[in-house]
Amino acid sequence: MPGLDPSANIAIPELPDEITGLGEIALNLWWTWNADGKNLFRLVNPYLWKESGNNPIKLLQSLSKKEIERLTANETFMNEYRYVHALFTRYMEDRTVYSEEEPLPIAYFCAEYGLHHSVPIYSGGLGFLAGDILKESSDMGLPMVGIGFMYPQGYVRQVIGSDGWQNGANETINKDTAPIERVLDKEGNHMTIRVPFIDPPVYTSVWKINVGKVKLYLLDTDIEQNDPWDREISYRLYTPDMNQRLRQQIVLGIGGYRVLEELGIRYSILHLNEGHPAFALFERVRAFIENEGMKLEDAIERVKESSVFTTHTPLQTATDVYNFDMMSHYFEEYWKRLGMDKERFMQFGINPDDPAGGFNMTVFGLKMCRYRNAVSKKHRDVTRKIWKNVFDHDGPKSAPIDHVTNGVHLLTWLGDELVDELDRILGENWLNMQELPDIWLRIDELDDETIWNLHYTYKVRMVNFIRERVRRKWADEGIDPLVAMAEGVMLDPDVLTIGFARRMTEYKRPDLILHDLQRVERIVNNYARPVQIIFAGKAHPADTPGKQILQRIFKAAQDPRFRGRIAFVEDYGENVAKYLVRGCDVWLNNPLIPMEACGTSGMKAAINGTLHCSTLDGWWPEGYTGKNGWAFGGEISDDEADARALYDTIERKIVPLFYTLDERNLPAGWIDMMRESMKSVSSAFSGRRMMKEYLAKFYMPISKRCRSG
Ligand SMILES: *Cc1c(COP(=O)(O)O)cnc(C)c1O
Repeated sequence: MPGLDPSANIAIPELPDEITGLGEIALNLWWTWNADGKNLFRLVNPYLWKESGNNPIKLLQSLSKKEIERLTANETFMNEYRYVHALFTRYMEDRTVYSEEEPLPIAYFCAEYGLHHSVPIYSGGLGFLAGDILKESSDMGLPMVGIGFMYPQGYVRQVIGSDGWQNGANETINKDTAPIERVLDKEGNHMTIRVPFIDPPVYTSVWKINVGKVKLYLLDTDIEQNDPWDREISYRLYTPDMNQRLRQQIVLGIGGYRVLEELGIRYSILHLNEGHPAFALFERVRAFIENEGMKLEDAIERVKESSVFTTHTPLQTATDVYNFDMMSHYFEEYWKRLGMDKERFMQFGINPDDPAGGFNMTVFGLKMCRYRNAVSKKHRDVTRKIWKNVFDHDGPKSAPIDHVTNGVHLLTWLGDELVDELDRILGENWLNMQELPDIWLRIDELDDETIWNLHYTYKVRMVNFIRERVRRKWADEGIDPLVAMAEGVMLDPDVLTIGFARRMTEYKRPDLILHDLQRVERIVNNYARPVQIIFAGKAHPADTPGKQILQRIFKAAQDPRFRGRIAFVEDYGENVAKYLVRGCDVWLNNPLIPMEACGTSGMKAAINGTLHCSTLDGWWPEGYTGKNGWAFGGEISDDEADARALYDTIERKIVPLFYTLDERNLPAGWIDMMRESMKSVSSAFSGRRMMKEYLAKFYMPISKRCRSG
């Protein structure tokens, strides 16, 4: 055991000597992206595995001492255990760095992480990107640590009433059954640090999640040392209360920085995913001044030269801005310590387009990090335009903002059986070559039957999963039959299925496809060639227009004239997403251009052969080849015209292609397109391609500069 970072999960029951490794595997999310890992826990007890919500800690806790001991006498289990433990050990001990040169250590800060449903500390796309970045960094052997928040009530479970109105219920994370560990201090107590400059002081305890070889540290203010108001700082993701939100971001940025210092973790590169943790930049300046005796200007320069800022918003108004009084309240001490006056301090966050507005976290990130990126090419162009004035003093008219288009962690999102097929045709080491387009040409070796049988399997699983959830609600709550219909009991795996699963918010236009209900009726009820539409997604609790859109969709799903062919699946999250991206035939995306910075769910679908149909926004202008899905709608979004274009695409292209069967009874044209989709998207939008770009554009140049001086 390394002495640096003692930690404990007191929740894992004592295990017999023969299987102590089971506890290690349970406490590392590695198993979540390895079929063998999942299978091992299923073998422990298939029923309890399901009941635990695929949480290995809960699973082990629900076994009696006898049952645990009996495992060691189960030959099948023991063989699988030895096999998986060896795989896991080999993975953890592999020190290969899959990069031409090794970068210096990177600290990655983000307000949320989407890793697995047993750790509900995410809200959406930003979190899943961060989660996939940690997983890919682990696979590549990159020296990265993550910093984030433990949200005791982080996850709003979506509950929809029979009137289609979304009611949220906060799900509290049970820290004693989550796959997390307490980080211990030198005395063996749960490590707690004081976040400076909040008066009275706020304390935060520290937890750890093992994401393969990468450690993710989580801050938790819900501890006894804090007053009730302060305990709530980390209760919820993105609280709308601006004062509390500022405190949240002080804890994340400054507190997070402190945690790394306390743990003795040295890093050279700071990567901020979005503006929320940007205060870490100030704390870094302070550390350079106070620990290394640097002068203010040198410290600022050094921070700029070694920090990366990733922006995700295409709108100025969507950024966090704190008014100057609020900022002064918390930072007056701070700027004095840094040797600045108020004006100088505030200048870092002043948006030239709205100088009186307050301290803007995105402007701060852009000014204070020399390495900046948007998350797709299209988003880069938009970002350069909207923040142009931030850089006018620096010279170039066009803002110096690069882009790294998002990618997805392949093993997390690909279906397990598909991975088996890829193992077979792409060769042993394909995961370490995933970013090379050429290896994917071998997808051609997957024959039509194999592809179609796999896809059909995923589709059936999705439909069964959806129906089973409704059955439970029906049994437990006695829901209205119309609600049961709306939630998908009538779904049919033989029908062409369009999926739309994403946040219910205006700019994504979730109800665009319902624009003309008569046309929808014609499409879904086509006698020989029917279509079904599955919706899922949460509205932000404060987003009333988003809730109204959701309600409109839910009412359509209850409308008998659509004959149960429109469904709304409750409580979209990582688990539901996995079923949908594999099981739908078409993945629909129709944001108002240019509001979708990137979007990643379409990539998850496309790598599984679920065909993307989208307006040309986010990643799709880079991804669309003309043969791997569909693009529709104008460059300037117009609901009426875009809806018409969508209906035309469905009726003239999608439906005929899907229902044209050859003599083997297979939709050969469709399957060709699935191959194109997998070939073109899996390499270009893989997590590996993304991380290699972060390395080439940012991490390596910074490392070289730091090493040379
Ligand atoms: C991938 C993912 C997202 C982000 O996808 P978008 O295309 O940006 O909507 C959101 N939620 C879940 C559960 C996901 O898996």
